[in-house]
Amino acid sequence: MITVLKDAILIDGTGRQPLENSLVIIEDGTISYAGDGEKVRLPESADIIDLAGKTVIPGLIDIHIHMDLHGMADTYAENLVEDKLRAIRTAREMRDTLLSGITTVRNCGSVNFIDIAVKEAIAVGWCEGPRILASGKIISITAAGNDYFLGMYREADGCDEVRKAAREQLKAGADFLKLMATGAYMNPGGIPGASQLSREEMAVVVEEAAKLGLRVAAHAHGKKGIIDAIEAGVATIEHGTFIDNEVIELMLERGTFLVPTYVVGHLFEKYASGAGIPEFMIEKNRETEQLFKDNLRRAIKAGVKVAFGSDAGTNFNYHGRNALELVLLVEEGFMTPVQAICSGTKVSAEAAGLEQSIGTIEVGKAADLVVINGSLDNSLQALLDGVEAVYKGGCRVR
Ligand SMILES: [Zn+2]
Repeated sequence: MITVLKDAILIDGTGRQPLENSLVIIEDGTISYAGDGEKVRLPESADIIDLAGKTVIPGLIDIHIHMDLHGMADTYAENLVEDKLRAIRTAREMRDTLLSGITTVRNCGSVNFIDIAVKEAIAVGWCEGPRILASGKIISITAAGNDYFLGMYREADGCDEVRKAAREQLKAGADFLKLMATGAYMNPGGIPGASQLSREEMAVVVEEAAKLGLRVAAHAHGKKGIIDAIEAGVATIEHGTFIDNEVIELMLERGTFLVPTYVVGHLFEKYASGAGIPEFMIEKNRETEQLFKDNLRRAIKAGVKVAFGSDAGTNFNYHGRNALELVLLVEEGFMTPVQAICSGTKVSAEAAGLEQSIGTIEVGKAADLVVINGSLDNSLQALLDGVEAVYKGGCRVR
């Protein structure tokens, strides 16, 4: 089966500028041509779709979500929702996510392995959703605040326990491992600047993942925790609040990716007064918000590879609205539209180790595509309100 997308503005995810009057040919779910529309003869018997005035981009890849959180004002209320119900809600919201143009997600921490269950349900066709990389539970030291998210952390102390914890997630079917290098904003008692797992403990997690060719994501705010995580060999630093010039140098040297999840702080501020977000979260965020913005700007300017992570599921951060992260990065001058799309596709695919199969609109890649009504020249707002069609592996799902 051959599908031809004709005359759209093509933003192929590689970072190249938009190409007008393009042609994208999909054969059996794979891209067999992408480029100038004038240069090729249309295959006979193809299903030709005229997309004049529309924009085509690669399916977005959100590499930091929490699929079994729902965006509640106070995430503690999640503990009152039974796992069985949460799994059903999660399946529903993964469909919303796919239809919004997010064709791949990496789930960075799940309650009682709901992420792995939903991934399997999608694989057997019981429900629709994006491609999923699941982490299972988050590996953490015994720490204040973990019980704010019951069932989400696997506490382990010392290299032997940490190794066991890593192997448990892999046994359950994890596609990558998530660990806590420092404390968190989103629970009482968490101190974002404070280190948690040691460099040696994190290296054990990296070692166990690497045996299966898998990667590790590190939640890390404080400088020492970030450095320890990088030195231990993690692929991605999640959040990275206190990245200074020294850390930026190290990330460049080691090729470590940054996943800033910028939208979280934005939503805390937007809903700060009286909306139900616990005061301690708002306070902690305020203390470092400006510093984080400055650090992020410097990191991007220095050339640190920044991947797309929305932290969807956290407070007022709804599944299906993931692209708000990219909209904001453009709106607040961190990136151009083309850069932000590259970050949300190609760079994120590289960060997750998926660049052989997805992330750009190039020959040989799976046809994960989003058709946007209108142009993305000055703003990415249309990613939120202009998605017209979504293709996953060449199948039109929206
Ligand atoms: Zn998170």
